[in-house]
Amino acid sequence: MRWDNLTGDAEDGAEGGRGALALFGTDTVVTRTFDTPEFRGITFHEVRARTILNRVPGASRMPFEWTVNPYRGCSHACVYCFARKTHSYLGLDTGLDFDSRIVVKTNAPELLRKELASPRWTGAHVAMGTNVDCYQRAEGRYRLMPGIIGALRERANPFSILTKGTLILRDLPLLAAAARETDVGVSVSVGFTDAALWRTVEPGTPSPAARLGAVRALADAGIECGVLMAPVIPFLSDSPEQLRDTVRAVAAAGAVSVTPLVLHLRPGAREWFAAWLERHHPQLVGRYARMYGDGAYAPTWYQRRITRQVHELAAEFGIGPARPATARRGGRRQAPAGPPPEGPVQLVLG
Ligand code: SF4
Repeated sequence: MRWDNLTGDAEDGAEGGRGALALFGTDTVVTRTFDTPEFRGITFHEVRARTILNRVPGASRMPFEWTVNPYRGCSHACVYCFARKTHSYLGLDTGLDFDSRIVVKTNAPELLRKELASPRWTGAHVAMGTNVDCYQRAEGRYRLMPGIIGALRERANPFSILTKGTLILRDLPLLAAAARETDVGVSVSVGFTDAALWRTVEPGTPSPAARLGAVRALADAGIECGVLMAPVIPFLSDSPEQLRDTVRAVAAAGAVSVTPLVLHLRPGAREWFAAWLERHHPQLVGRYARMYGDGAYAPTWYQRRITRQVHELAAEFGIGPARPATARRGGRRQAPAGPPPEGPVQLVLG
């Protein structure tokens, strides 16, 4: 094992790195920090993963069976992120560590190329951005996605990407080339357009306006793009006016579908969100306790109401109903635009 502290200030990465080492079964973990404004305060744990195609557990309700996740942790730092819990498996905390200590699987492209070439691989749909965002800031430096997209394209292997990162536009020509060979599904996550709410609850992400700009650029390049309207945050982004503003903006951006998903709060995200709510909206603490007192999900009647409202608005603005996710588990050439439109699901928030 080698610890390589390039800037001399990442000593505190040692414990977490050992967790990552145990998890990935790697021989080498390199910890780096970069003294540039966009990476200030972020520590990267570079690992060489043993496998990169992950099978989604059989009990999952997700419409895909295989995922690729080149990163763990996400500097987009959404307060509500369901993936926070996964950082605890690395011996890291689900709050600040999740936002600022990012595991990078530096061998992801070469490993994927090898696994796709295996005679055992059936060519099933591969979903990305389903755990953490593959176009988070780290991707600007590590540039893993071009190799990953290239590997999938070489095999004409269908895939989809869900992201909040406008960095996806860097790879537009690659995505367009892949779309000529196989089914490529792209969804951008935009839960609301309220700039004040965005700054506090999704502090590391490109603005909703910038994300909708990415939807427009993708559409203009001939790549159909859906919007996952996630999350709709009770009492903060769910008024009829807010829903209308968001769906109108999504339609104007040229999205082919809009799929609403109400906030859910599982352990890991729940505590972090509760502390944020207490700080920024203390008057809502009691209402949230009632709404999420029974578990991670808002009541079904509330989820149905939001879904109905968004679908009605989508019809009004000419987007049409949310396109159902079409990938069959284990199937070929299927491209889901996002998760199922209704009800509690084992989550994707990208
Ligand atoms: S919700 Fe998506 S973009 Fe936000 S922190 Fe989680 S993985 Fe990153």
